[in-house]
Amino acid sequence: MDRLKGKVALISGGARGQGAAEARLFVREGAKVVVGDVLEDQTKKLAAEINDGAAQVAAGLRLDVTRAADWRSAVDACVRLFGGLDILINNAGIFNMSGLEDTSEELWDSVVNINQKGVWLGMKAAVPAMRNRGGGSIVNISSVAGLTGSTGSTAYHGTKGAVRLLTKAAAVQYAPEKIRVNSVHPGVIATQMIDIIPREMRDRFGMIVPMQREGTAEEVANVVLFLASDDASYVTGAEFVVDGGLTAV
Ligand code: NAD
Repeated sequence: MDRLKGKVALISGGARGQGAAEARLFVREGAKVVVGDVLEDQTKKLAAEINDGAAQVAAGLRLDVTRAADWRSAVDACVRLFGGLDILINNAGIFNMSGLEDTSEELWDSVVNINQKGVWLGMKAAVPAMRNRGGGSIVNISSVAGLTGSTGSTAYHGTKGAVRLLTKAAAVQYAPEKIRVNSVHPGVIATQMIDIIPREMRDRFGMIVPMQREGTAEEVANVVLFLASDDASYVTGAEFVVDGGLTAV
């Protein structure tokens, strides 16, 4: 309890899945949370569920992470509603399984814009507000696909690998200003994102993962919470794998 007391967090792609799990957990730990997503109605429903008619601790808004103006509005909302911004979770992302030759330019651009450019735009918008608070914590959600390759998902691998090093570059740049930046690399996590993976392939993954099961959004959220909190006060530029041992094989 209270590991995020007094802190304000902005979570992109937080309408469902891992981002929503983080929003619920962060509020339980004392934070105020702004959830941004292209699924605006779902962000508002989630915020209403978290607030449950009581004190206003969560808000939902439309945020398309590819748009700098949306990011500015989201950061402004954190300041206007809750007084500032201490934590950014760059969680929004899209996944596809197209291999190198099957990836159209249109698909490539949309994956790069959301998964990679969106993370940069988010950090760019959040840093000045964090500077005003004397520091902050940014957690960029990459993937095990940012650490290892596979036979498909070319654009996804490329963008998640980029998030890993964008994280380290920002960590080095902003360490003197007490803004920590870390990446989290989930393995196979049971959210709507992986509904596109055929059942037999998911079952095969289940057998490869040493823990022999998919992870949950809550299991990733617990690691993100640690990085967002002052418990991780000397942790920056680091990568945290949450994959049931998948990349240890
Ligand atoms: P999810 O599909 O449930 O959530 C992704 C969210 O991002 C959705 O709410 C979606 O509306 C939002 N989003 C998509 N495009 C957006 C945009 N342009 N602007 C704002 N929001 C946008 O999946 P999830 O598993 O919760 O994914 C969260 C993060 O975890 C993603 O970055 C994903 O790549 C990463 N990840 C997921 C897995 C997995 O197995 N589920 C594994 C590794 C990494």
